[in-house]
Amino acid sequence: MTIQRPRTAIIGAGISGLTSSKMLTDYGIPFTCFESSDRVGGNWAFGNPNGHSSAYRSLHIDTSKARLSFRDFPMPESYPDFPHHTQIKSYLDDYADTFGLRANIEFGNGVEHAERLPDGGWELTTQRGERRRFDALVVANGHHWDPRTPEFPGEFAGESIHSHRYIDPRTPLDLQGKRIVVVGIGNSAVDIASELSQKSQRNTTFLSTRSGAWIVPKYAFGKPVDQLTKGNPRIPLKWQRRMARNLPILLSGSPEKYGLPRPDHHFGEAHPTVSSELLLRLGSGDLTAKPNIDHFDGYDVHFVDGSVETVDAVIYATGYNITFPFFDPGFLSAPENRLSLYKRMMRPGLDDLLFVGFAQPTPTLFPFVELQSRLVAAYLAGTYRPPSPEVMDEVTRADEVLYTGHFADRPRHTQQVDYYHYEHQLLTEELPKGAERARRDGPVLLAGRAEQAASPATA
Ligand SMILES: Cc1cc2nc3c(=O)[nH]c(=O)nc-3n(C[C@H](O)[C@H](O)[C@H](O)COP(=O)(O)OP(=O)(O)OC[C@H]3O[C@@H](n4cnc5c(N)ncnc54)[C@H](O)[C@@H]3O)c2cc1C
Repeated sequence: MTIQRPRTAIIGAGISGLTSSKMLTDYGIPFTCFESSDRVGGNWAFGNPNGHSSAYRSLHIDTSKARLSFRDFPMPESYPDFPHHTQIKSYLDDYADTFGLRANIEFGNGVEHAERLPDGGWELTTQRGERRRFDALVVANGHHWDPRTPEFPGEFAGESIHSHRYIDPRTPLDLQGKRIVVVGIGNSAVDIASELSQKSQRNTTFLSTRSGAWIVPKYAFGKPVDQLTKGNPRIPLKWQRRMARNLPILLSGSPEKYGLPRPDHHFGEAHPTVSSELLLRLGSGDLTAKPNIDHFDGYDVHFVDGSVETVDAVIYATGYNITFPFFDPGFLSAPENRLSLYKRMMRPGLDDLLFVGFAQPTPTLFPFVELQSRLVAAYLAGTYRPPSPEVMDEVTRADEVLYTGHFADRPRHTQQVDYYHYEHQLLTEELPKGAERARRDGPVLLAGRAEQAASPATA
């Protein structure tokens, strides 16, 4: 049976919006992609004029290109194992050009408000002040652009910024010959702390962290580490995690040896921090590990172990909030980064709303969003149907226990997913079962809803 295709809007043209655009093109779904910036790439468009890039000048991706490449668009052979952000941007430009995606992207026309119509369908208010209606909405606005900064008691008299604004040791702050605390233990924190603590910068640098993370180098035994640790989806996730548990200890020794706290989880249970430089800086005495900050007093930073350092600057590499500024908060928000979604894409009861890219998959987001986009396109084309809302809720709860059940309750880990497990489950179970449901019960019909609906104001 051929069904009428729903007119679809995509919010954002980063990797999530681009892969969605590509898949919707492949499946013949009519769509418009709204992008508030004048370019594609989102986070990977260094210096993005709309403020949606958190890339710093020295940023190299920490996933190797073999793991990073989209399945239908390999990275150029000439690229190094760990491309620079400029190369990722150029790869995304090539992707957009090769598949003719720009024709459907409206640049400089972000979505300011998205209102669900009374019987389904969407009315969008855009940056240009237009009101546009669509049958379905794909949200791909990213979750690494709205900085999260912790509050510590007291007043700090020096300068402080979030890593979102950090570009290099001279921009936007002059960070040479200074005393600096970098807060956090994720990839941005360790990259920035490693850069600022190089002797050439003449800084005294501290890395303060509340919790631990497993640090893995980019290479081991002559290969990118993520090529050694690819999971086998046929082995239960619990066993895989057990088998990989000792890898960071074998490669680098225990974190305590470098002054870092021991993580509250085993290796493989959360996104590790990838750095070949951090342990070298700590082990060389260029960088000093500190526990969490207790309070500030002028230029003095008091740590929870009672030690005190007088510093000029604090850099918070403390993560990001998941934010949907275009939804009324009462309609949908993600307090403390909690966003419960079926397969991290769908909300029971909101059958014309899809999310792409709202996960923290190990080891990478790139093929993950490509896979999610495939399900989105199959759904809109009527060849995939999700289960009943009750089953969706049940499966979502079970997935959350599987992927994040072993963590302390913290915003950093709410979106954790093991990519290889997720991929295997989607390809071998969810998509085939969804196709069977669509054949048996018929597709979810979305086309034409937006035109039929009364306006939100008059309904
Ligand atoms: C410093 C850093 C390093 C990273 N390193 C890695 C790595 O090594 N490996 C890895 O796999 N991942 C990495 N990531 C994570 C991931 O690759 C990025 O966050 C990725 O950019 C997510 O893509 P996205 O399309 O979901 O979001 P974004 O890249 O943020 O793109 C969202 C797009 O939506 C647009 N937009 C936002 N709001 C609106 C609106 N209202 N209307 C219209 N358009 C809108 C934005 O302008 C942007 O173009 C890293 C992230 C950061 C911050």
